[in-house]
Amino acid sequence: MIQNFIYQALPARVVFGSGTVSHVKAEAERLGGRRAIVLSTPGRGERLAEDIAGHLGSLGAGVCARAAMHTPVEVTESALAAVQETGADILVAVGGGSTIGLSKALALRSDLPQIVLPTTYAGSEMTPVLGETAEGRKTTQRNPKVLPETVIYDVELTLTLPASVSATSGMNAIAHAVEALYAEDGNPVVLLMAEEGIARMARALPRIGADPSDAEARTDALYGAFLCGSVLGVTTMALHHKLAHVLGGMFDLPHAETHTALLPHSMAYNAAAAPDAMERISRAIDAPDASRGIHDLAMSLGASMALRDLGMPEEGIDAAVDEALANPYGNPRPLDASGLRALLARAWKGEAPSAC
Ligand code: NAD
Repeated sequence: MIQNFIYQALPARVVFGSGTVSHVKAEAERLGGRRAIVLSTPGRGERLAEDIAGHLGSLGAGVCARAAMHTPVEVTESALAAVQETGADILVAVGGGSTIGLSKALALRSDLPQIVLPTTYAGSEMTPVLGETAEGRKTTQRNPKVLPETVIYDVELTLTLPASVSATSGMNAIAHAVEALYAEDGNPVVLLMAEEGIARMARALPRIGADPSDAEARTDALYGAFLCGSVLGVTTMALHHKLAHVLGGMFDLPHAETHTALLPHSMAYNAAAAPDAMERISRAIDAPDASRGIHDLAMSLGASMALRDLGMPEEGIDAAVDEALANPYGNPRPLDASGLRALLARAWKGEAPSAC
């Protein structure tokens, strides 16, 4: 039976498909842009940014290839000065969550509109959430100013994403939908999108692992990422995202890989308190047990499932538990220190998930 709910959609314009990068100039003009600066990471990202600048033609105001993981404030400040020097009136970001983070941080400070072309499955493009790092601490805020005005999903931009990065990035997307399924502010529309997002992604990732150039699988994964990012944007996060943020900030662990190793354990912790969510996840991934099924999926993709292999020190477990409890996110199961310690100990060793 449908329970009472509140449905609050975020403004979004999404252009999805193959070859959609060709829309970028028209989309910039639609937003009133006359000088567009393209943001990316350095290296391969910069070459891609130059291609996008080519599509912008006379609107192109240059490339700023400075994005870095976890959106360091000092990078944002130097990029802001570079953007202002060009007189740009619109931001165009091409890349994964790191580039999109820079774009959002610039939009926060400048109010410039954003067009985002995601090349991973992290989902940041669909959320009003910005995480920034200053003096080794990552803080997260929700602000409608950072939500991109237009998102152009072009499957062709994802074909070069290596299979291993696709796997963990896809698991990161699944983590968004998992927590949306038991979010205290969920609603029936979110449930539909989250379950479909998990199903599309879970079916696509093994095919991408077998053949990273499989355009049909890439299309499913990108569509799944859109759905998973969308539900993250309209619900509040719980224990799993809290732990991922704590570990990422404290030990500088890689973002998507940390989500991947933690997810089965956060799910097992919450399973008894969120049976409907677990049932939907089981159905989406076609596995009898949701947390075990997610663990097996990640293992089958060759993901590293031990936090110790990602660089977390064992003695960091207690400090991480303290930090997670100091400023907790809402969660279906109440948080207790011994349960969290057991959860992290299993994830640290890379064991199979188990309710603790
Ligand atoms: P990323 O942007 O750092 O990209 C991962 C790697 O993949 C990089 O080396 C990048 O150069 C490479 N890459 C990206 N696209 C490629 C492509 N098509 N082909 C080849 N290589 C490619 O990582 P990410 O996981 O996408 O994003 C992580 C960041 O995003 C973190 O800082 C995280 O906090 C943030 N994030 C934010 C939100 C939000 O809602 N605010 C959501 C998810 C992630």
